[in-house]
Amino acid sequence: MQYEEYEDGCSPEAPSFIKLTPDGNQLLIWEDLPGGERRHAKWSLDDAYIIATEAGYRVENLEALRSVTERDRSLEADLTTMKWFDYRYLTPAAATRLFAATYTDCYRRIWREQFDKDEAALKRPLRNDDPFRVVGPELTNLWRARQWADGLAYPYDFFIHTTFQFARKRGYKRPPLPNQLFGAKMIPKLTPALAMAWRRSMESRARYGTSANYRNENYCGDPAQDAHHAHILNLLRAKGPRPLDIRRFVFDERLLPEQRAVAEFGRELVERGRAQVPTLEEPPVYRKIKATALKPGCYGLPGADQGDWPCTACRFRVACRRSADLVSQTAAEVWGTDDPRAADHRAKAAARKRKERARKRASAAATR
Ligand code: SF4
Repeated sequence: MQYEEYEDGCSPEAPSFIKLTPDGNQLLIWEDLPGGERRHAKWSLDDAYIIATEAGYRVENLEALRSVTERDRSLEADLTTMKWFDYRYLTPAAATRLFAATYTDCYRRIWREQFDKDEAALKRPLRNDDPFRVVGPELTNLWRARQWADGLAYPYDFFIHTTFQFARKRGYKRPPLPNQLFGAKMIPKLTPALAMAWRRSMESRARYGTSANYRNENYCGDPAQDAHHAHILNLLRAKGPRPLDIRRFVFDERLLPEQRAVAEFGRELVERGRAQVPTLEEPPVYRKIKATALKPGCYGLPGADQGDWPCTACRFRVACRRSADLVSQTAAEVWGTDDPRAADHRAKAAARKRKERARKRASAAATR
């Protein structure tokens, strides 16, 4: 399936719907065809080209607008500059689905390791495989827990599993619920424990971005790509640098441009790296991605642009605002308000007040 692109990297032929599959590894995309027929396709999570279609962003952001408050959406631009590299091009809604799927996996894993091996596969710690199916506290807690992991820049599997282990050591009888992952009781001791576990984990197995967006052939000066180069340079410096690692990151994985490595470590060391035996049997093949398709995940989310950095320096700001306005307009047409979650809160608060007044009137009448 190929989509013709507009000049800004958006597609008029974009799919009707994009969702993560429950295992979180693939995108399930379907297109509603005339006559009610539906065409399905599955794409790997890596396929930023498809994620970056304009209609895809709008569908995702409409779902986020319907489901979380403006306060929770307002942090997303900042978080896009901090989060783990693989999530910087995912919409916040897609990242939350991935977080929820990872939470369930980690829950079953810790249950298998520390409670009951046979029961583990049957555990369903969340009410819905798709957290956006029901708007309510569970979704809000998952969204906020995901933001907490994003602010600390950890991959979700590391963050959740380490937090589960930490809670177990502190006497929790069950793995923490999503709201307990960022609870005030947990944070002061958990944050340094996470930092120490991350250092150890990186010493035994270095982690870096796996998205095609970070390969040399797709480099276009995007801030997330530059941040990833700094991460790779830190990994190289931490071990020497060694020619074999230069071979791997510069020539095999293609995660650091050769000129950058030469500027940092000198031509001689880079040539020694080139002369090493390849570290991969087959060099990975990646789809060439248009620079215009490399939008930050917060693109087009109403409320994400708070009028300051990073939005003031963002090359997509004009298109982002246009897309966010379209999402708000759609919400107003569908739900009669451009902020359904706030309207829902107001309606619930008014209903609570009415109930309270009725209760007071009833008790006053009974005592008369
Ligand atoms: S302008 Fe839009 S895409 Fe750019 S950082 Fe801000 S919210 Fe994200």
